[in-house]
Amino acid sequence: MKTALITGITGQDGAYLAQLLLEKGYAVHGLVRRSSGMEINDARLRWLGIADAVHLVDGDVTDLSSLLRAVRTARPDEVYNLAAQSSVMTSWHQPLLTGGATALGCVGVLEAVRTERPEARICQPSSSEMFGRVRESPQTEATPFFPRSPYAAAKAYAHWMTVNYRESFGLHASSGILFNHESPLRGIEFVTRKVTDGIARIKLGLATELRLGNIDVARDWGHARDYVRAMWLMLQQEVPDDYVIATGRTVTVREMCGIAFGYAGLDMERHLVIDAALFRPAEAATLQGDASKARARLGWAPEVTLEAMIHEMVEADLRRLSGDAQGVPVRERPARAP
Ligand code: GDP
Repeated sequence: MKTALITGITGQDGAYLAQLLLEKGYAVHGLVRRSSGMEINDARLRWLGIADAVHLVDGDVTDLSSLLRAVRTARPDEVYNLAAQSSVMTSWHQPLLTGGATALGCVGVLEAVRTERPEARICQPSSSEMFGRVRESPQTEATPFFPRSPYAAAKAYAHWMTVNYRESFGLHASSGILFNHESPLRGIEFVTRKVTDGIARIKLGLATELRLGNIDVARDWGHARDYVRAMWLMLQQEVPDDYVIATGRTVTVREMCGIAFGYAGLDMERHLVIDAALFRPAEAATLQGDASKARARLGWAPEVTLEAMIHEMVEADLRRLSGDAQGVPVRERPARAP
C-alpha cells in the first residue's frame, strides 16, 4: 500500500485528490492548519464522503517543524503540496501572507522531504497565472513567465524552487502548470463558483443581481477532478518533469456566464451588473494552455467539458441553497465579494 501526504487537503484539489488516491488504495495523510473554524474545515472531505478515511495531521506549510514531523510520521511515498493562499484578488490585499504560504511554504515542503524522506516523489501545483502578460499563445512548458500579481509571483518562485531542488538534490519533484480548474467544491471567491452560486440565488428568489468585475478576460477552464488525475500521473513517471495541464479551450468570463445563465433559464442582461470595484490592479487577459506534452507523456486528457462542469456547479448550488445537500461547503459570502 502506498502512502501519500497532501498539504491543503481541505481545499478543492486536496479533497478530490484524496478521493482519487483512496480509490487507488493509498493511505492518505493530510496536513490541516488549525483555525477557529475547525468544525467546517473538513466540509469538502465530508461532501465527498471521505472525511473518516483520511488521517489529518495538525500543521502548516509556513511552520517547517510541523512539516518535518508530518513527513517523519506519515513516511509518504508521494507528497502533494496543495496548500496555498490561492486567490489572486486576496494576494493583492495580503501579499506577504501569500508569499509566506504560496512561495516559502513550497520550500518548506521541499526541505522537509529532502531532510526526512528524499525518496518521496513531490508534486508542486504551479499556476497558469505565472504566464500573466502572455509572451505567446497558447502557453507551453517553454513559454516564459510574466507574473502579474503577488500570487503569480509567489507561484513562479515556488515553481523554480521545485525545479532547483530536482536539479540540485535529485529529488523526484514535478511541477504541474495547472490552468484554472473548478468544481462544486471551488471556493466562492473564484469567478465560476461566484457565478453559479449567484445564479442559484437569483433562481431561488434569494437575490436579484450578480455583480462581477472584468468579464472580458478569458480563461482556459477545466474540471478539478481531471486536474488531480494529472497530478497523480506526473508522480507515476520514472523521471520527474514539468507539465502544462489545460483543456486548450479558452472562453471569456462573459461566455462562461452565458452558459450558466442559459442553463438556469435566466436572462443574463437583466441580472448581471458590472462593478468597477471588482476590477484588479493588473491581470492576465487571456490564458490558453497547450497540454500536448501531458497528452503524449502522461496519456492525460480532460474528460469533463466546460458546459458539463458549469451545469454540475449550478445544480450543486441550487441543491445547497435549497438546503438538501448536507455537508456542501456553506460559506457566507464576504461583506464584499472578492
Ligand atoms: P484567477 O484566474 O486565478 O484569478 O481566477 P478567478 O476565478 O478568481 O478569476 C478569473 C477571472 O475572472 C479573472 O480575470 C477576474 O478578473 C475575472 N473576474 C471578473 N469578475 C470577477 C469577480 O467578481 N470575482 C472573481 N474572482 N473574478 C472575477
